[in-house]
Amino acid sequence: MIQLALLLVFAVSLFIFGFFPVSNNIVDIDTELPENLDNYTFNVNESYHSHANKTVLIVIDALRWDFVTPKLMPLTSSLINISGCVSKIQVESPTVTLPRIKALTTGNIPQYIDVVRNLASSEVLVDSWLHSARKGNLKIVFYGDNTWEKLFPDIFTRSEGTTSFFVWDFTEVDNNVTRNVDVELARDDWDIMILHYLGLDHIGHVLGPFSPRIALKLQEMDEIIYRVHKTLSEKGQIVSFITGDHGMRDSGGHGGTTQPEIIVPLISLGVKCQNSSFFQTDIPANIASLLGVEIPSTSIGNLQKSLLDSLSLKQYLYACYYNINLLLKKVKMSPESCYDARHSYKEFVRTGVSSGLSGGGPQGCSIFSIRLNLTRALASFSAIAK
Ligand SMILES: [Zn+2]
Repeated sequence: MIQLALLLVFAVSLFIFGFFPVSNNIVDIDTELPENLDNYTFNVNESYHSHANKTVLIVIDALRWDFVTPKLMPLTSSLINISGCVSKIQVESPTVTLPRIKALTTGNIPQYIDVVRNLASSEVLVDSWLHSARKGNLKIVFYGDNTWEKLFPDIFTRSEGTTSFFVWDFTEVDNNVTRNVDVELARDDWDIMILHYLGLDHIGHVLGPFSPRIALKLQEMDEIIYRVHKTLSEKGQIVSFITGDHGMRDSGGHGGTTQPEIIVPLISLGVKCQNSSFFQTDIPANIASLLGVEIPSTSIGNLQKSLLDSLSLKQYLYACYYNINLLLKKVKMSPESCYDARHSYKEFVRTGVSSGLSGGGPQGCSIFSIRLNLTRALASFSAIAK
């Protein structure tokens, strides 16, 4: 009987810790740009600065990978051919909006509890590339899904939220975003514009991804992307990113882990880049590098050379050095880091006793070992700096 009770306690604990893990956000690290490497002093302003006058991020809720085709989005496809690329983005589960916005802005892996929070979010984020942009005195305007206004209450210079509550509304919900876009295109007092369109997701929930309404909505989105990018690029250097927060399953809706739900496009326009594939959590570190603002302390993302072709090799290696430094700081702050694990294991092999590692095993070791591959950037930088 006691065994059964213990087993029950163990099972419940396992579920709770698995389903509601302790946050792995480490925000208490210094994200300032490094000024030297050994005896070499960086020219920080030259090595790390903005690559655009204005940056636009358009999130089209539930934009599937196979929605971005020359047939469905001809205008956007023509812009990609002139100057841009499409990256295949892998989205972690849960494929619902709140954790996806968090991944897109903090660069961190979301938690399952966010599925619950998705319904009634009162959370305020403490660090993200938006915070970095504000710290760098960049002005951000926002229109669309009001989840962003809840997560970033003090960040936007101007904003207006829409709600995902009325899932039968395919039209008004997006018109309320677009009418603000027209006003912002005529103004010149902002640096970053973020839009989050909900109409496509609503159609997906009600009619599924193969409804003729999907093609009509994509045509509307296509025209908006073209108008925004064209209008702004006539005034100066503009970089636009267009992505889905998550995809849409073949039967409509989302929340699971089927391929159409977890693979979304990231369209980059006005920037030298190449088609590639990476994780959604990589996006914030790369946007921060293109904006020339601090990489958020929350990020566990990798920099992607394919997206950062506008940077010279020296600038790219500096950004890698900066990013890997941040990741290393996090690893060192983790009590069961790879460092500790490696050290303890070597010592165990040598002496037959273990020390240091406080039980449980090196969680996160594998993810960080992948990130640590970037340390080779360090060696490369030293080589070209000499
Ligand atoms: Zn949805």
